[in-house]
Amino acid sequence: MSLPILHTSTPRPRVPDTQLGFGQVFTDHMLLMDYTLETGWHQARIEPYGPFLLEPSTIVFHYGQAIFDGLKAFRTPADDVVLFRPQRHLRRLNTSAARLCIPPLDEAFTLAALKELVRLDADWVPRTSGCSLYIRPTLIATDPALGVHPARTYRFFVIMSPVGAYYPEGFKPVKILVEDRYVRAVNGGLGAAKTPANYAASLLAAEEAKAQGFTQVLWLDGIAHRYIEEVGSMNIFFVIDEELVTPPLEGSILDGVTRDSVITLAHSWGIRVAERRIGIDDILAAHGAGNLTEVFGTGTAAVISPICELFYKGHTIVINNRKVGPMTQKIYDTLTSIQQGIMPDYFGWMVPISR
Ligand SMILES: *Cc1c(COP(=O)(O)O)cnc(C)c1O
Repeated sequence: MSLPILHTSTPRPRVPDTQLGFGQVFTDHMLLMDYTLETGWHQARIEPYGPFLLEPSTIVFHYGQAIFDGLKAFRTPADDVVLFRPQRHLRRLNTSAARLCIPPLDEAFTLAALKELVRLDADWVPRTSGCSLYIRPTLIATDPALGVHPARTYRFFVIMSPVGAYYPEGFKPVKILVEDRYVRAVNGGLGAAKTPANYAASLLAAEEAKAQGFTQVLWLDGIAHRYIEEVGSMNIFFVIDEELVTPPLEGSILDGVTRDSVITLAHSWGIRVAERRIGIDDILAAHGAGNLTEVFGTGTAAVISPICELFYKGHTIVINNRKVGPMTQKIYDTLTSIQQGIMPDYFGWMVPISR
């Protein structure tokens, strides 16, 4: 593999694990690769982390032709560094690329280059339990011209950020507003792609929800404003009658890697799992009948985010007396233990970075 490395001469400042937060601190190096119509993807290289120059006319600034993904590396008790399901994240990056007319990456090469980057900055993978290295592959259109059409030039880059424990004081269940005015995506739109446009579309709703004391919004479908979709940057699961229920992948929500991992875990335990459409009215009815016992979100950043309260059109749905339910806890404990190399990698999810 041809991957020139330009080593940094000025190591970046370190922050103690307890003060990391999310996405504030970046490692010494980044991975870059460029695309032109003539040569395809070329010039993969590792350079010191730092700004790059783009003309103000660069197409991504104007029309948002961009995608990204997010995955994590962990340090095991044996001091090895492991990636969680990187192949699936890179496959999803290419799925997002296809929706935004972005040329696909060679997944095997990109994984090898990514591993090289993580190996180079391996000392940045935190040693404190619960902390990890968040990895952000990003792909932007770089033509310096204002015509509306798919670009002919692109840049792929990967930056990495050590992140703190999501729950330094233990699990904290959150309150969620069920959004009945704004919508995030519709079938046929961009909902299934990890693209900045979806986040831009969600900001106003999230800000208004925060002003009312909620952590995030739960999106309903864009047409009937009835079917549950997902939460902010997380997929959502309900435990109803001991069954794990989550909305199906029909084009308007993201195919979360954590979502898939939770379904796989639940199946392995013999828990019934249903990927089916579920209306907010069904949730209210299940809650009224006492059958809705747990609700949680899933995503790479938090892994599992227990939800203790849903607010919908004046109704407050309190879940499990605002306490974390047993299935939520067991899934969180198992998934995070597999990721950190504390439990065996039953499903072949972890990819070690050789030293
Ligand atoms: C990234 C993301 C998720 C979670 O996906 P993971 O692969 O589990 O991190 C869910 N919804 C949206 C909108 C996202 O962008």
